[in-house]
Amino acid sequence: MAPALDKIHEECGVFGIYAPDQDVARVTFFGLYALQHRGQESAGIAAADGQTLRLRTHMGLVSQAFSEEDLAALPGHIAIGHTRYSTTGSCSPANASPIRAECDLGSFAVAHNGNLVNAQPLRDEMLQLGARFASSTDSEVITRLIAEAPGRDWLTKIRRAMPRFMGAYSLVIATVDRLIGVRDPLGVRPLCLGRLEGGQGGWVLASESCALMTIGAALVREVAPGEIVIIDAGGVHSHTGQVPERHAMCLFEYIYFARPDSTINDRRVYLARLRMGEELAREHPAAADIVVPVPDSAVPAAIGYSRASGIPFAEGLIKNRYIGRTFIQPDQRLRDVGIGLKFNPLPEVLRGKRVVLVDDSIVRGTTTPPIVRLLRQAGAEEVHVRIHSPAFRWPCYLGLDVATRQELIAAHKSVDEIAAHINANSLGYLSVEGLLRAIDVPRDEFCFGCFTGHYPVPVQMDLMDKLALERPLPAMAAPGEAALPPR
Ligand code: SF4
Repeated sequence: MAPALDKIHEECGVFGIYAPDQDVARVTFFGLYALQHRGQESAGIAAADGQTLRLRTHMGLVSQAFSEEDLAALPGHIAIGHTRYSTTGSCSPANASPIRAECDLGSFAVAHNGNLVNAQPLRDEMLQLGARFASSTDSEVITRLIAEAPGRDWLTKIRRAMPRFMGAYSLVIATVDRLIGVRDPLGVRPLCLGRLEGGQGGWVLASESCALMTIGAALVREVAPGEIVIIDAGGVHSHTGQVPERHAMCLFEYIYFARPDSTINDRRVYLARLRMGEELAREHPAAADIVVPVPDSAVPAAIGYSRASGIPFAEGLIKNRYIGRTFIQPDQRLRDVGIGLKFNPLPEVLRGKRVVLVDDSIVRGTTTPPIVRLLRQAGAEEVHVRIHSPAFRWPCYLGLDVATRQELIAAHKSVDEIAAHINANSLGYLSVEGLLRAIDVPRDEFCFGCFTGHYPVPVQMDLMDKLALERPLPAMAAPGEAALPPR
């Protein structure tokens, strides 16, 4: 693996389409392409033509994973797609999604974004009943529980399965003749509904609205927390799956995960980040000459900081946008260079300047010191680090792969100690209140788990590990197939 960067890894992206006169596998490919930032380990598409459901999954980026032959082998008018970063289960072909299963209503496939906090007890219970699993993902647990739930129709089955799931799940499901979207009652991960105009029209479900724009669909609305939408020849049918007791949308979707051109809760993510920068400038001013973002995610907040402070914005770091994930190990000399694989400084911009460096988060505290060092080596006189999120003190159990609490630098060090660790002249984090002002959505809509340790669902921290479901399996089914229990 390439040197680990100190970033929170995104979770997954899901996409679904119901469109009678479209090449749905191809549209899904481009929908996933727009959601690539949410997961880069594997990708999959399942398509249905009214009678048969077909599935293709591959490792790697969407653009590498699918060929023209793959898309040609996925005919139909319904398709779902998934791009994965492993939050439960390792990065392996067996864990690629969507997951396909058979049940008494026929074939179906599920693409899941999020993380169940009770996946392990559910899986243990199923194993004791003789179930066999093909993967070590919570997505397969979800798929299996839907398959086994009693019910004469999909709505009943899903409604009966939902109360068993605890945690985050935005699902798109393809059956042979319908497309279904499900969002957990907390609404942790986003899911939106879009409409394709022209021809026979069509409907689209996606993790983020940026995917709708990419394929020429218009955003209709978000799928509500606890809602099930069933899309068939008769249009979109909305149902209550589970009545939410509270909402707990992930704040990091606004801070870092979602693309800035996406809209969540009617808020453009770009503008929310801009306002985070403005709030940060008010909360943590600095006497400086330029404001420099850590590209690309901190650019809008740095512009906001610059606007509110009057300090000019400057690009002092240039990112290698094509670096992606690599499994080629750098040699020792390159490891020593470290962060230089990803960023190069611009000495002409930085020399002699007092710099405000804006970033979205500090997780382990391993990436920021080399970036500060790069700026100083390029001639920066002072470096004042400003973070447009509150300090990340607790792990996330709801769909993000972050460090353990032990590894989180803000769990053990004060702000001054972290400033010393990263060799910054000063350090400031945006407050929770400042963040909420920037997003401008009521406080009770959100999850604050990683900032406060108070999660919206009970978590057994000692059990929560992304490889927790990885244990010797009684028998393995084919990758992407949910193994059925012996009858
Ligand atoms: S714990 Fe943090 S990262 Fe995880 S869902 Fe909640 S707000 Fe998002």
